Amino acid sequence: MPAEPPVESPRSLADAYGLLTDGGAAWRPLAGGTDLLVQITGELGPPPERVLDIWALDELRGINLGGDELVIGALTTYTELRQSALVGELLPALAEASATIGAAQIQNRGTVGGNLVNASPAGDTLPIWLATDSLVVLGSAGGERSVAALDFFTGYRETARRDDELVLRVRVPLLPRRRVRFRKVGTRRAQAISKVVMAVSWHTGEDGAWIDTRVALGSVAATPVRAGATEAALDGQQPVRAAADAAVTALEAEIQPIDDVRSTANYRRLVAGRVLRRLIREEGGW
Ligand SMILES: Cc1cc2nc3c(=O)[nH]c(=O)nc-3n(C[C@H](O)[C@H](O)[C@H](O)COP(=O)(O)OP(=O)(O)OC[C@H]3O[C@@H](n4cnc5c(N)ncnc54)[C@H](O)[C@@H]3O)c2cc1C
Repeated sequence: MPAEPPVESPRSLADAYGLLTDGGAAWRPLAGGTDLLVQITGELGPPPERVLDIWALDELRGINLGGDELVIGALTTYTELRQSALVGELLPALAEASATIGAAQIQNRGTVGGNLVNASPAGDTLPIWLATDSLVVLGSAGGERSVAALDFFTGYRETARRDDELVLRVRVPLLPRRRVRFRKVGTRRAQAISKVVMAVSWHTGEDGAWIDTRVALGSVAATPVRAGATEAALDGQQPVRAAADAAVTALEAEIQPIDDVRSTANYRRLVAGRVLRRLIREEGGW
């Protein structure tokens, strides 16, 4: 077990930024700790040299409406997402996803920002940010910037965040009449890391056809991904059997799942197709 790293607990965002810019070894922010404390022994990679406990930064809390956006603070926990009337009304798929994460203890501590920066390809909220064209807001002493969720994941467990930045919040555009669906498949329905996790969003046109379709998945590549060919197969189509067949064929061809301890590539490919087909069938009522 490595020596316990030094911990600082700033009381304001300004103080946190001050520490993050002071150079030296990188600070590892500590939010709920449900990922970081698993890594502290060093068995899963380099342990943190210095820990910046951000739990007291209330600037990173809250779920609010900002114009035509739902704005979710980085320190928002899964329990808060499940209990939020705004999320329940405007993005119920996110409440649904939150209910599948760990158990009550993890949902009480695990946060939106931690799920983003941990950047596991199996992170359950991540396909939702991709499917809704959400923006990740990063802050540092130099100011704030917004990065499209699609550009945030730059490689296996790598993100666009710089060492001197904190994730502050996620901005979810609210589009009238857009629907978002979520589905996770794990070993069992509770306390399981996903084998495949999917979020799909679309608008329904006058003729019942899907428009602006987004299909986002986790656990089928090194990062959470959008399935562009699958989206193209669905766009402009009504949710009928032939459209589902074409979309499933496209999806199975374009994802690149791997064999690992949790599942096989073949199973993941098959299940991803089944999940998509069922979702289209439910929407089409066939
Ligand atoms: C038993 C168990 C079950 C789990 N089940 C699931 C599951 O079903 N689905 C799932 O997706 N995950 C699961 N997880 C993983 C974990 O709970 C989530 O990823 C959670 O959202 C992490 O949030 P946190 O606040 O605890 O992050 P922390 O552990 O505090 O931090 C995680 C990483 O993010 C960084 N970080 C955190 N917040 C910020 C910020 N605001 N700005 C910059 N960097 C930041 C930290 O430095 C660290 O690198 C599970 C974990 C455990 C231990």
